[in-house]
Amino acid sequence: MKYYSLNNKEHYSNFENAVIRGLAPDKGLYFPERIPKLSTGFISNLGKLHPTEIGMQVISEFVDDEIPATELQKTVEETLSFEFPVKKIEDRVSVLELFHGPTLAFKDVGARFMAGSLGYFIKKGNLGKVTVLVATSGDTGGAVANGFLAVEGIDVVILYPKGKVSEIQEKQLTTLGENIQAIEVDGTFDDCQGMVKKAFLDPEITDHRQLTSANSINLARWLPQMFYYFLAYRQLETSSKLAFSVPSGNFGNICAGLMAKKMGLPIHNFIAANNANDTVTRFMQSQEYQAKQSVQTISNAMDVGDPSNFVRILELFGHHFQDLKKHLLAMSYTDAQTNTAIKTVFDNCNYLMDPHGAVGYLGLKDFLEINPDYRGVFLETAHPVKFLDTVEKASGAKVDIPPSIASIMDKKKKSFQLRTYAELKEFLLEVD
Ligand SMILES: *Cc1c(COP(=O)(O)O)cnc(C)c1O
Repeated sequence: MKYYSLNNKEHYSNFENAVIRGLAPDKGLYFPERIPKLSTGFISNLGKLHPTEIGMQVISEFVDDEIPATELQKTVEETLSFEFPVKKIEDRVSVLELFHGPTLAFKDVGARFMAGSLGYFIKKGNLGKVTVLVATSGDTGGAVANGFLAVEGIDVVILYPKGKVSEIQEKQLTTLGENIQAIEVDGTFDDCQGMVKKAFLDPEITDHRQLTSANSINLARWLPQMFYYFLAYRQLETSSKLAFSVPSGNFGNICAGLMAKKMGLPIHNFIAANNANDTVTRFMQSQEYQAKQSVQTISNAMDVGDPSNFVRILELFGHHFQDLKKHLLAMSYTDAQTNTAIKTVFDNCNYLMDPHGAVGYLGLKDFLEINPDYRGVFLETAHPVKFLDTVEKASGAKVDIPPSIASIMDKKKKSFQLRTYAELKEFLLEVD
């Protein structure tokens, strides 16, 4: 499979280079030159297949022979080594739980697949040691750290803003050790992001270490997110039409769902559920794309004012707005609505949602009200324990701490503290 840059369709790359680079040299996102069709036999047989077989069928054509089948299979197995249960909570409403991975968020799927693919390419290419440098506002850092833990040839350096991630998130970043180094920056997430960008452009650093990023636009993080739409579909009775509601921030997850649909998975409609960061909701009404500064909400992993992956969705629909509108509804909700949804669903269904899942639930309910012949699934993208204070306050419930979290809460935090870019530079030049 070849991938072109969305900024220049003449620029092509194979899978390997696209994964190593992340972005095309012209800063465009990579997009597959064609979208493979899966057979109807495969779709109707999903219930009988092992998750690894499903993952392999879905991803194989995208990777071709650039990763040998045995290696790819190992990576797919590790990516899908936890449960993806679908639970019915109301008539016509089910939830797909994506939080059973090691860091309790769906980003584990993309991060683990990327660690496997990049790890393979580095080993094969004798690239020497590579440093994955990332800034995180919460979930990405933990998933990347965990995915890359003990992967040979890769060091991971994660910058996070001091005092601005939750206690659980901080423990997930700072207690792993081995090849994972957490850096606590006295500043904001934007400061962390700014330092990372500067380091990538600093030849003194890049002459000394090979840097790469692991952010969500990388093909190896985006494409494997298709897997769980297939794993969800096979758990559903399929007599009515189906809608999936996806809590969206950077729009990678929902874009993977739309890809799965294009490959032949019979999901009829998607709902992009947003918080107050409503750039796409406004676009779907006005056909005018106007990015705006992000605003802070209780579903903070979706506080994105200019979602990077949305251009991939436009490309998937050939930039035909009316066609896109037939398949995608975008809705935005306030924090007050989100809190009320958490409480109502807890009281009525005895099910505890995190704030992101709650936004997804709201989107699905509005869709189902105007489409009585459908049933739907909303994605629960993180475990409620990751947003403990918000969830306990909204629901009045006590959240049970899962054993995996309880055990890291006792571990000692190890981090390197710094304030300025000069200090980061010194750190990257000294340690190896
Ligand atoms: C990252 C994240 C999202 C947003 O996913 P996108 O693929 O960026 O749209 C939603 N919920 C949670 C919990 C997340 O961590």
